[in-house]
Amino acid sequence: MIQINPKNSELKNIIILATGGTIAGTGEEGKTTNYTAGNIDIEVLVSSVRNLDKIANIYGEQIANVDSNDITMNHWLTLANRINELSKQDDVDGFVITHGTDTLEETAYFLDLTVKTDKPVVLTGAMRPSTATSADGPLNLYQSVALAASDLSRGHGAMVVFSDGIYSGRNVQKINTFKTNAFNSIEFGCLGYMRDNIPFFFNKSIKPHTIYSQFDVTGLTELPKVSIAYFHIDADPSIIDYFAQNSEGIVIAGAGSGTFSSNWLEEIRNLETKGIPVVRSSRIGNGIILTDSTIDKYSNCIPSYTLSPPKSRILLTLALTKTKDYSEIKRIFAEY
Ligand code: GLU
Repeated sequence: MIQINPKNSELKNIIILATGGTIAGTGEEGKTTNYTAGNIDIEVLVSSVRNLDKIANIYGEQIANVDSNDITMNHWLTLANRINELSKQDDVDGFVITHGTDTLEETAYFLDLTVKTDKPVVLTGAMRPSTATSADGPLNLYQSVALAASDLSRGHGAMVVFSDGIYSGRNVQKINTFKTNAFNSIEFGCLGYMRDNIPFFFNKSIKPHTIYSQFDVTGLTELPKVSIAYFHIDADPSIIDYFAQNSEGIVIAGAGSGTFSSNWLEEIRNLETKGIPVVRSSRIGNGIILTDSTIDKYSNCIPSYTLSPPKSRILLTLALTKTKDYSEIKRIFAEY
C-alpha cells in the first residue's frame, strides 16, 4: 500500500485498488484506438487527476495491471478478501477499484455480493487511454473518489461511476463499444448523478448485497466453474454436453425470453438428475425470464429473472459455494 498524497486529517481515507484497463492504458499521443490497456501504474494514474488531494487522502495498491478480459476469479477473490480485511480498519473510509470496462460489470456484481462492509465500494474505468485527447479516466476517477468519500454513499452495495452517472453493481451494463457514456442500467435507471464531486442519489436497489448477502468468500481459494452457452439459430447442442462434463453449472444465454431449440431442450433435460444446475437467461440483456413450461417443457431450468448471462454466471457460481439443491438455487435467483 502506498500513500499517494500528504495526509490531511480533515479528509476521508480512500483506498484505490488498481487492476489495469484502458484507464491505465497508453497509445499514440492524442489517439483513442490501438492502445495497450493496463500500461501505467497507480501512482502515474493518480497523478493525472488534478485536485484529488483536495477531496480525500489517497492510498493505492496495485492488485493487477491487465486488460479486463484477463481478469480471473482469482483477482475477484483477492479484491473481495482485501476489501474485507481493510474495511475492518477504522481509518479506512472507502474503496475505489480501477478496472477495464469490458468486464467491469462482472467484477462489480461479484463484489456487490461478496464484500462484507457497508463502506462505499466504487468501480470505475475509462473508454479512452490516458494518452488520448480528452481522456475520460481522470474525471471518472475523481468522481469515484468523491463518491467513495461521501457520507451519502453507504449501503448502496458496490457501485459503478461512469460519465457522471452512479450505477448499482447489480444492474449496470456496458452498453456502447467506444463512446465515453458507455454504461447504464437500461430500465432500472441509475442510482444517481455526480456533478463535479457531489453525489445526488435518487434510487436504491432492494436486492440483497454486501452485508445483507448470504455469500462469503473468506478462506476460499477457488470457485465452482460455471459456463455460459450462447444460443443462436442452428446452435450446436453438443456444447451443452461439453459444458456438462467440464463445469459444475451452466447458464444458457437464450434467445428472446430465454428460449432455445428442441435439440437443446433434449440435451438440457437430464442435467438436473446429473446434479448440474442450468440457469435460463437471455442474450437480450433487458426484460425478465420466468419459469415457463412452454419454453422449458421439463421445467428443469432455473430462471434468471433480470440477470444477464454473465451476472447469472456469477450468482450461480456463488450459489454453488453454498448448495447443489435445485430448489434452493431457484430461491436464490428469485431473491437476488
Ligand atoms: N479491453 C480493455 C479492458 O477491458 C479495454 C476496454 C476498457 O478498459 O475500456 O481492459
